[in-house]
Amino acid sequence: MQKTPEDIIRSEILAFKGYRVPDHAGMIKLDAMENPYRLPADLMAAVAARVTDAALNRYPDFEAPGLKAQLRALMRVPDGMDIILGNGSDELIQMLMLAVARPGAAMVGLEPSFVMFRILATVAGLNYVSVPLTDDFNIDAAATLAAIEQYQPPLIFITYPNNPTGNLFDAAVVERIIKAAPGIVVVDEAYHAFASASFMPRLAEFPNLLVMRTVSKLGLAGLRLGLLAGRSSWLEQIAKLRLPYNVNVLTQLAAGEVLRHPEVFDAQAATIRGERARLTAELRRIPGVTAYASEANFILFKVAGADKIFDGLKQRGVLIKSMHGTHPLLSDCLRVTVGTPAENAQFLAALAALMS
Ligand code: PMP
Repeated sequence: MQKTPEDIIRSEILAFKGYRVPDHAGMIKLDAMENPYRLPADLMAAVAARVTDAALNRYPDFEAPGLKAQLRALMRVPDGMDIILGNGSDELIQMLMLAVARPGAAMVGLEPSFVMFRILATVAGLNYVSVPLTDDFNIDAAATLAAIEQYQPPLIFITYPNNPTGNLFDAAVVERIIKAAPGIVVVDEAYHAFASASFMPRLAEFPNLLVMRTVSKLGLAGLRLGLLAGRSSWLEQIAKLRLPYNVNVLTQLAAGEVLRHPEVFDAQAATIRGERARLTAELRRIPGVTAYASEANFILFKVAGADKIFDGLKQRGVLIKSMHGTHPLLSDCLRVTVGTPAENAQFLAALAALMS
C-alpha cells in the first residue's frame, strides 16, 4: 500500500505553513525591506552587455574568486578572514544549521527576530529554544546567558540591527554572549548599510565569531547573494554544505559588474537613511502612533488595532507587514520599509486618513 504525504513527511514539516509572500501586483510595496531604487540606466546597460556573452551552457565558476574579492572589498572583510558565498544569506543560515544539527543539539534564538532562524532550525532538526528580548527590544543578558549555560547551543544568531525591531543591540551584551557561547555566534548584518556599528572589523577578536552580510538590502535582492565571513577553520566545514554552483552564472556576471560601482549603493543607502529619519519623524507626529528608532531600512511602529490599519492600508494600495500576533512583544506592531519619498508620502497619507 502506498503512503500519503501525511504518512511520509516529517511532522515538523507538515505542521509548518511555509514561507509566504503576499500578492503585491500594483501595490506600493513596503513589506520586504527592498531598496526602492533601481540601478542607473548606464549600469543596467553594462550588465546587459556582460549577459550577452554569458556561457549559459556551462556551470558557473565554482569558487568565483573575482566576485569574492569584490565582495571582500565592498564589505571591508578584514585581512586574514575568509568568506563563503550563499544563494542569499538564507542559504548560509541553512548551511550553518545543517552543519551543527547533531542529534539533540539546541539552538538559542533571541526573539522576536527574523523568522527564518526558527524555520530553518526546525527543518534541520535542531531543538529551537526561544529567549525573549526585553520590553525595549534589547537582549535580556541574564536570560540569554542562562539559556546558553543550560542548552550549550552550537550556534547562535544575533541580528545586528535586528529585524523586525530595527535596533542595534548593546554591543557589550553581544560581546558577553560571544564569549560565553560554547559554539559559533553569527552576527547577521543584513542591514549593515543603514547602521552605525558593525562587528565585521572585530572578527579577529573572537575565535567563534562569524559575520553574515547580504547584497539584498543594498538594492540587489533579485540576485540572491549573501556572504559569511570569518576564520577559514569554520568556513571550510560550513562550505561543504553548499550545493554545487549555488551562485548562478547571471548573478555572478551581474554582481561582478555592478559591484565595480560601490558608490551607487553608498548613495542609495544614504538617501534611504535620510528618508528613514523623515519617515520616523512623520510617523511620530501622528497621534496614537509609537515609532521605534531604527538603524535599518524599515521602521517598526505600534498602533491600536494594527490588523485593521494593515488591512486599511492594503485597501488603499499600500502593502506593509503586520507583526501583530507573531510574538507577544510585537502586539499591535507593524513594520514599514523605507521607500521613495513619493511612496512614503502615500503611505503616510493613507495611515493618517485611517487614523483620523
Ligand atoms: N537576515 C535577516 C536579518 C533578514 O531580515 C533577511 C531578509 N529579510 C535575511 C537575513 C535574508 O536575506 P537574503 O536571503 O535576501 O540575503
